[in-house]
Amino acid sequence: MTGLLGAAEIREIAARIGVNPTKKLGQNFVVDANTCRRIVKSADVAKSDVALEIGPGLGSLTLALMEAASEVIVIEIDTRLAEELPMTVERHGFDPQLLTVINEDAMNLEALTPSPTVLVANLPYNVSVPVLLRAFEKLPTLRTGVVMVQSEVADRLVAKPGSKAYGSPSVKATWWGELTSAGNVGRSIFWPVPNVDSSLVRFDRRDVPGDETLRLKTFALIDGAFAQRRKMLRSALSGLLGSEASAIIERAGVDPTIRGEALALSDYIRIAQAQ
Ligand code: SAM
Repeated sequence: MTGLLGAAEIREIAARIGVNPTKKLGQNFVVDANTCRRIVKSADVAKSDVALEIGPGLGSLTLALMEAASEVIVIEIDTRLAEELPMTVERHGFDPQLLTVINEDAMNLEALTPSPTVLVANLPYNVSVPVLLRAFEKLPTLRTGVVMVQSEVADRLVAKPGSKAYGSPSVKATWWGELTSAGNVGRSIFWPVPNVDSSLVRFDRRDVPGDETLRLKTFALIDGAFAQRRKMLRSALSGLLGSEASAIIERAGVDPTIRGEALALSDYIRIAQAQ
C-alpha cells in the first residue's frame, strides 16, 4: 500500500488497536492527506532534513514526513499508537528503519539523536505551548518548523507587543526565533471534529540574544510582568527587583510606569542586564 492515510484506514487502525480518541490527550487525528502534504510543504522540509514530530497519533503527518525528509523522529505518549506506527509506515512502503519512535511524554523532551532540523506537528492542545517552548530550548539544531495549534494559541504565539493576545509565550518564543502565521485549518479535516478552530504557526530560528544565565533572568522578568499584567512594570516587578525596581527599569531605558504587555523581548533583556 502506498500513499498517505485516508479517513477509512484511520478509523480501521484505531478500532483494531482499541484507540477511542480522548480529549485528555488532545487526540484529534487529521484524516485529510492533502492537508498533511500542505503542512509539510509549508515547513519547507527537504530530503536532507531530520524531521521531528510530537504526537504522531495514527501517522497521518508522519507518512507525509517520511515522503519528504531523510529520517523522522516521533514522540508519542500513547503506547498503543507508538507501537502501531512502524507497522503503518512499513505497510505504506516506507522504510521503518528511518523512523525512530519515542514512547514518552514530550513535556520531558531532551536532546535527541539524530539531531532534528525541522519540527512538524499537530500538537496536543492541552500542552502545546510548554512543549513548543521546550523543543526550542532543548533542540538548538531545529532550523524551522510548522505546528498546528488551537487558533487562540496561534494568535498568542505570533502576537506583537501592545496587542490583546500578547502574553508571556509570545515574548519567550522570540528568544529563539521568529514566529509567523501560516494559515488556518478547517475543523472537518479532523476525526473526531474538535469544537475549536486550528491554525498553523511557522517558526524560523535565529541566533539567540545571549547565554543561558541571561535567558533565565529575562524569562523570570517576563513571568513576573505577565503574572500581574494590569500593573505598572515597577510594581509588577517589585517582588523580583525589590525597592530598586524603578531605578533598574529606568537604567534599562524603559519607562517604569508602563505595563509589561507593552514591552518587546529586547526591553526585558535590557532590564535583566541592568540588574
Ligand atoms: N499527528 C496526529 C494527526 O495529526 O493526526 C495526531 C495529532 S493529535 C492532535 C495529538 C497527539 O499527541 C495524539 O496522538 C496524542 O496521543 C499525543 N500526545 C498527547 N499528549 C502528549 C504528550 N504529552 N507527549 C507526547 N504525545 C502526546
